[in-house]
Amino acid sequence: MKITKIFAHRVELPLHEGTYKWSGGKSVSVFDSTIVGIETDAGITGFGEVCPLGPFYLPAYADGVRAGLKELGPHLIGWDPREISKLNHRMDAALKGHPYVKSGIDIACWDILGKVAGLPVCQLLGGRYGEKVRLYRAISQESPEQMAKKVTGYKNEGYTRFQLKVGGDPDTDIERIHAVRAMLAPSDRLVADANTGWTQHEAVRVVRAVKGLDVYIEQPCLTYEECLAVRRLTDHPFILDENIDSLEMLMRAKGDLAMDCVNLKISKLGGLTKTRQVRDMCVSMGIAMTLEDSWGGDITTAAIAHLAHSTPEEFRFTSTDFNSYVTVSTAHHAPHREQGFMRASTSVGLGIEPKFDVLGPRVVEVA
Ligand SMILES: [Mg+2]
Repeated sequence: MKITKIFAHRVELPLHEGTYKWSGGKSVSVFDSTIVGIETDAGITGFGEVCPLGPFYLPAYADGVRAGLKELGPHLIGWDPREISKLNHRMDAALKGHPYVKSGIDIACWDILGKVAGLPVCQLLGGRYGEKVRLYRAISQESPEQMAKKVTGYKNEGYTRFQLKVGGDPDTDIERIHAVRAMLAPSDRLVADANTGWTQHEAVRVVRAVKGLDVYIEQPCLTYEECLAVRRLTDHPFILDENIDSLEMLMRAKGDLAMDCVNLKISKLGGLTKTRQVRDMCVSMGIAMTLEDSWGGDITTAAIAHLAHSTPEEFRFTSTDFNSYVTVSTAHHAPHREQGFMRASTSVGLGIEPKFDVLGPRVVEVA
């Protein structure tokens, strides 16, 4: 089997809530997502999706996905999409870095492999664990009162895990954490995700001010060293996200006992193949994970569901149903939340079928 064509569609994903705001005044109102397709000489086509969280979250941006596909695509025509590790090796040789560019191609190859094997991707990634995958809800940065109200609303929809977007003014963030924790049941999990937004002294103040509360602290500061310093001053469960962008960083952080959980994003690490590698190391080393992506719609959500469902339940901290945040559905048969949980498809591949009438014309085509 050979890759004969790589193509992409650009699709806009507006938000039900209007805007999504996080640390440092960053916000997005309409996500710019790229749906990647890979055609083969066997008549099988696979699909993936890459959707950066704007151009200012990770070193990734939406037009960069499309530019990268044009750069990388010609190196992959004629290669066998089922030999996914070999294909990743090829991608790394042809384009240094830019893991998010490679992510959509890698996901589409897993979709193809599943269709060829007659199996859902989660089984190919190691097997289906348990009945369903628990989700968290990200709470966009607003006033403490508004965030507490939002959490109550999403709790009524069945969510039991919440991630507060903090990383703003530390005094307001302390109020945000107190206001939201007060709305939750003891068994609900709360994460305060600063998304690198606090300086080290601010982060130390915040963790001291919420010392008595049951709250996880996620990625308080920009650098790994700053986060490690904060980690050593607090007894809150600690999550690293932005800094864990490779297997090498995971190993270093584990060696330093720098976190209790990590947040793995498929496009941050370069696709399902590399995320699986990091995921499997986390399982071997006893580190629980948030399994998700930077953002996306139906196809990203399907990929997340397969990654999460193939991870032992005790190591699944949370996952995200991004398709429920956005107003546009881009694929049939995508996972849908039921009372704070979702499931990976039992159909072959990712189990989705793109809605081409929604996607519009191809904006990239490499043959
Ligand atoms: Mg995070």
